[in-house]
Amino acid sequence: MAAKTEKLLQVKNLKKYFNVSRKDVLKAVDGVTFDVYKGETLGLVGESGCGKSTTGRTIIRLYDPTEGEVIFDGQDVGGKLNRNEKKNLSKRMQMIFQDPYASLNPRMMVKDIIAEGIDIHHLAKSPKERIERVYEMLETVGLNREHANRYPHEFSGGQRQRIGIARALAVDPDFIIADEPISALDVSIQAQVVNLMQELQEKQGLTYLFIAHDLSMVKHISDRVGVMYLGNMAELASSDDVYGHPLHPYTQSLLSAIPVADPKIERTRERIILEGDVPSPIDPPSGCRFRTRCPFAMDICAKVRPKWHEAEKNHWVACHLHDEEIKTENV
Ligand code: SF4
Repeated sequence: MAAKTEKLLQVKNLKKYFNVSRKDVLKAVDGVTFDVYKGETLGLVGESGCGKSTTGRTIIRLYDPTEGEVIFDGQDVGGKLNRNEKKNLSKRMQMIFQDPYASLNPRMMVKDIIAEGIDIHHLAKSPKERIERVYEMLETVGLNREHANRYPHEFSGGQRQRIGIARALAVDPDFIIADEPISALDVSIQAQVVNLMQELQEKQGLTYLFIAHDLSMVKHISDRVGVMYLGNMAELASSDDVYGHPLHPYTQSLLSAIPVADPKIERTRERIILEGDVPSPIDPPSGCRFRTRCPFAMDICAKVRPKWHEAEKNHWVACHLHDEEIKTENV
């Protein structure tokens, strides 16, 4: 597959803090930098509480960033936006949510759920055009026009997620943030939804930020994968590099936890078991946030936050082990 190189989204040093009490601040996202290229799927992975969903929600402006830049198709959308700018952004950027049970209004018919964006953006000139667009969307996601007059409770989890996808597609967006879109679905249905998203991407040239808590979930859909830990990006590279040649000890440990189908390899391969739990983002460790669980932690890891840098071509990592300057000083 040819590498996609045209940047659709640039996220620079993005921070999102929440005041949780008078003196405590939860640093959910604390200085994250990455690009998303046109037409690609960037998988964003990490344990729950690592900040991946907050990153997605801050990019799409469900939250206002505390600091940093979000540049979408050359335009800064991270600062104050007026109503028109917000509306424009919501046409070009859409979100698919994790829970297809909670994200659809149970009192609305499917046709009105799907047409919400069409109405907001005045994309249909007549009721006939509106319903035709709804039918088209239902058919695009593998449902049919008879489903338009039903309510969400009449559908299975997989079908509801298809409705969520149809709702997102109805405004003809360029970029979709899919926040754990398959985690709540049965394993047998997960592949169907992933396949549908891939087909739609090919047909409509969509770009995805695909958020998941598990590396195995994004393996088949992602061109590149970013791994987050405790509000920071730990590693970002092509899927082949992340799965075949991971640099960060955290990525290595996540990969070593995925079972391998071949029993011979499964018996002999080395597992990296992490000690302890993820520390609180209210009082994160100094220096490298992973140091309390890292099997390779050095003295410097407690003192200096590792630099987010391109250790190999198109392979970004935040770890002193791969920083040439630090390595030479510590030999
Ligand atoms: Fe481990 Fe240090 Fe690298 Fe952090 S910077 S991942 S603690 S070796």
